[in-house]
Amino acid sequence: MAVDRWLSELERFRSWISFGLTFAPRFLAPAPRGLREAIREMRASEYWPPERLRELADAKVRRLIQYVAKHVPYYRELFARERLDPREIRGVADLPKIPILTREVLQERFEDLKSDEFERHAPILGQSGGSTGERRYFWLSQRCMNMEFAAVRRHYDAAGYREGDRCAALYFPLEGKLANRFYWDDWRRRIRTFNTRLLTRDTLERFVSLAVQFRADVLWAYPSHLDLFVRYVEQTGDERFRPRVVVTNAEVLYEAQRERARRVLGCDVFDWYGLGEHVAAAAECERHGYHIPEEIVAVEVLRGNQEAPEGEPGEIVGTCLENFAQPLIRYCTGDFAIRRHDRCPCGRAHAMLREIGGRTQDIISTPEGGWRAFRHGLFGVEQVPGLEAIQLEQLEVRRFIARVVAPGGLTAEARQVLTRRVVEAIGFEAEINVILVDDIPRTERGKRRLVISRVPFSFLAQPQPLELTSAAPR
Ligand SMILES: [Zn+2]
Repeated sequence: MAVDRWLSELERFRSWISFGLTFAPRFLAPAPRGLREAIREMRASEYWPPERLRELADAKVRRLIQYVAKHVPYYRELFARERLDPREIRGVADLPKIPILTREVLQERFEDLKSDEFERHAPILGQSGGSTGERRYFWLSQRCMNMEFAAVRRHYDAAGYREGDRCAALYFPLEGKLANRFYWDDWRRRIRTFNTRLLTRDTLERFVSLAVQFRADVLWAYPSHLDLFVRYVEQTGDERFRPRVVVTNAEVLYEAQRERARRVLGCDVFDWYGLGEHVAAAAECERHGYHIPEEIVAVEVLRGNQEAPEGEPGEIVGTCLENFAQPLIRYCTGDFAIRRHDRCPCGRAHAMLREIGGRTQDIISTPEGGWRAFRHGLFGVEQVPGLEAIQLEQLEVRRFIARVVAPGGLTAEARQVLTRRVVEAIGFEAEINVILVDDIPRTERGKRRLVISRVPFSFLAQPQPLELTSAAPR
């Protein structure tokens, strides 16, 4: 018991120290050299004319293709099989000569897609959750991570989130050692990240207090979390935290969400489209154009095997030009967008997308009167024998429909396993009604959703018990 108390005191002390350090001058927290170089490069090309940008991208495509033909077993084999001479790929426009790479192929040929001088690229294992519940893994080189971060930094500058600004983040649930913390301060980046495992009226009230204490003037959030926060402010009138700017990423930001946030918070919202594999990205500028950072990714918008007709949506297929650890060329993202062909008034010449769709955040209402998100889908559920796809619909807090695609049917045992896994994934007892269907319907932006909740948003119910423990100074 005494040890527990001592540990919690130590934890309190540590969180005070990390809070204090966020006030340290910037020169005490320099970015690593590779990142500084990447930021310099990305800033230099920000306003290049279109021809110069395309020239750079073409040169990077040639470099990548020559590299994979020499160092990546999967591509050596593919080029031989397709009788493709790597010298035929002279730039972005020639990429369609290479067959598409699907997620299934990445999984099956995971090792063969790695460079034979893998370690040289200081690789980092990335992971990402899919909308069907599976977890995806991939390797990213340090250079690729730096360049993408530099592109994000450029986007923040345009949005008005400057380096050194204090930021409160309503992002993913904290995991591992941080899972039981209410928040966590990154003193180098001056970000206070809140644990979003459960968003209730109580936890959001504490979030506001802690954001104010942190003197945050930027809010960084998942669009779905932003929307919950905005509804909280709207319904409770708790206006203590007034961010100067909001930045979002990782899922679709719907225009209705952006409008509500602008109206309730009185500031603008800027979105970044990117994905874990770093094969495609688009950054919103100050004039709200989604610009593709062509220095690091080559993006195609495909319908069948060709570019989608003008003004029509197609699937985003992306190539990272900087990841030599596990190069992914023409990788299917499962996301959709329409190309924008006009010139953006901001002056940047980078190609643009609009109405990007696909990444949805799946949120359910919990018996505590709060909300929680599934960061990586419903793990464990996908291993039920015979199951191909699943969608949960929450009708009432403890009543769900599970729509299941299982062409061979489900045995009674499989149904039982499925129900148990769903209950484990959502985290509380509920009635699960399993229905077999031929296909899972798609949303207006073309993506299949994993979870749909019909329970109305409200933060005005009776006070909620706090689930999270805290090591926080009050
Ligand atoms: Zn622009």
